Amino acid sequence: MTAADLTPAERAAARAYRAAEKARLAQINADSPPSVMVLPVLRNYRHECARRGGQSTSVLLKEVYRLSPCGRFAFIYREGRCGCGFTARCLPARARLVLASERPPLGR
Ligand SMILES: [Zn+2]
Repeated sequence: MTAADLTPAERAAARAYRAAEKARLAQINADSPPSVMVLPVLRNYRHECARRGGQSTSVLLKEVYRLSPCGRFAFIYREGRCGCGFTARCLPARARLVLASERPPLGR
């Protein structure tokens, strides 16, 4: 099944789920603002780590995969945290909605 096979009702459900998840992510960012907002394509982000005397240190940005209640769609973004308190999280506008059947979780 591809996105082109979705019925109008499924497309509407996908749009509604994406909007709700974007709003949820925006609320998380508002409640707990990350040190930096990142694009979803980034897998690592370097920062000058306070715990390592300002040395450039990589933070792994892990995938967050949120399956819709119907199980058809998934909302994907990335976030990461360093022991020094530095945090990075995806911009809600750049997070993606995918078909769960086409794009499973990365599993790491
Ligand atoms: Zn750090």
